[in-house]
Parts: sequence; structure tokens; C-alpha cells
Amino acid sequence: LVSRKWRVRPTVLDLGDGVRVGEGSLTLAAGPCSIENEQQMELIMQHLVDNDVRIMRGGVFKPRSSPYSFRGLGMEGLKLFHQMARARGIKIVTEVMQVSQVEEMRDYVDVFQVGARNTQNFNLLDALGGVDKPVLIKRGISGTIEELLSSAEYVFSGGNEKLILCERGIRTFETASRNTLDLNAVPILKEKTHLPVIVDPSHGIGIRDYVPSMALAAVMAGADGIIYEAHEKPEEAASDGAQTLNFQESERLIRNLRKVYQLR
Ligand code: PEP
Ligand code: MN
Repeated sequence: LVSRKWRVRPTVLDLGDGVRVGEGSLTLAAGPCSIENEQQMELIMQHLVDNDVRIMRGGVFKPRSSPYSFRGLGMEGLKLFHQMARARGIKIVTEVMQVSQVEEMRDYVDVFQVGARNTQNFNLLDALGGVDKPVLIKRGISGTIEELLSSAEYVFSGGNEKLILCERGIRTFETASRNTLDLNAVPILKEKTHLPVIVDPSHGIGIRDYVPSMALAAVMAGADGIIYEAHEKPEEAASDGAQTLNFQESERLIRNLRKVYQLR
């Protein structure tokens, strides 16, 4: 169902208020790795509004490698995130980690994110197949392109056709970067599937200074959009600060992404 053989026409998602994801426009989503507090959200939303970025990312349920790391503000944080975003015309993408969260989060998100650690949580994918909300599925930590497509097939065959695929880097033998951003996946996915394909260069390379070049390369490779981490003070971010852009870097990237998109 997710293949081009089944549907030739590219799928374009309408998130409402004129926000579209898919061919014909460049989708930009930015925000902190973790939602931290009201003041942070205020500053980041202003940054997005100033730069006409309509989607904010930010986790309230965080999958952390260590149980002692910050694990997110949970539902309380999501409700505030939702309220503040609504007031500013911003759409929200945030990670859902387990089946029981799908129902409670549903009314407060615009796009559910399935994280790389949950790409093959088939019960979660089944549950998301039954909701009327778009789902952004990240490629698994060591997942193949075919496995990503199979995960999307779970949701799609369950009845939810509103899907976005996301390349976010895979684990390889290379240790110089956090992950290896597989830009090969972009043209391959664009040919294999009618679904929108976006790229997350922040987790893909994991090093702030290199995030912009990988983002620009991803757009030239044919990505329908970029999702990246931005924060008013990356050095103080509760998670993933080392790969997070400050507002100056973010603004410059947005400008360059729009220029590069025009060249395609
Ligand atoms: C995130 O987006 O902050 C995140 C945890 O991503 P991933 O699942 O790709 O590691
Ligand atoms: Mn992160």
C-alpha cells in the first residue's frame, strides 16, 4: 500500500491552516529535543513564527539511553505545548512511546512521532493505524529501508494513510559521528513510495556544526522536508545539546534551505 506501484501520485498531507507536507512544498520542523518549560517554548515559538516555520518538534516522552537522564515533562508538558502552539498557529510533532499514550495524546498533537527505537514496535504501529492523525515514522537505529517501509505498511494497512517517513541516520561501524546519515535512502524511498520523505540531520550526524550541510544536502537529494533540533541555548539543553542549533544558526539554515529548494 505504501508503494508507488499501488499509488503513483505522491501523497500530500494537509495538517490544517495551510500547512502541507509532501511534494510541492518544503516542510520545515524545528524545536528542542525535549520540551523543558514554558519560557523555552515561548522563545522557540517566537523564533519559528519570525522565520515562518509552521511546525515545532519537541519530546515530552523521551527515550533515553540512561534511566537517570531527563525523561520529559509528560502529559502536563504536552498540554501546555499544545495550548501555546495553537495560539500561534504552530503545528506540533512529538514522540509517542507506547500504546497507552496514543489515546491520551491524540487531542494534543498534530503529528505523532514514532522514534527510531520504536520503529518495530508493531503493537504501537497497529494502534496508530487506528487513529485519524498523521504519523511520522523514523528509520530504526539499525533499520533497513525495507524495514522502514514495512513499518509504514503496518500503519497504512491499519487504516491510517497519513504517513511521513524520516531518515535519521543508522548505526554503522563509523564512530566519528553519532550516526551515519544515509542520504542514499532519500532517492530510493522517493522512488519506492508515494509517501513524503523528510530528513533529520541532527540525529543523523549528531554534531551541531555539520547539521546545516547535511540538511542542505538532504534537500538537494530530494527530501520533502527537514526536521532538526533548535534551542535558545543549546549548551544548556536538557538533551541532545551537542547536535542542537542556536537561533542564529537556525535562521541561517532556514534561509539557505529555502534557496536550495528553489534550485531543484
Ligand atoms: C528525537 O527526535 O529527539 C529522537 C529521540 O529521535 P530518534 O528516535 O530518531 O532517536
Ligand atoms: Mn533528540
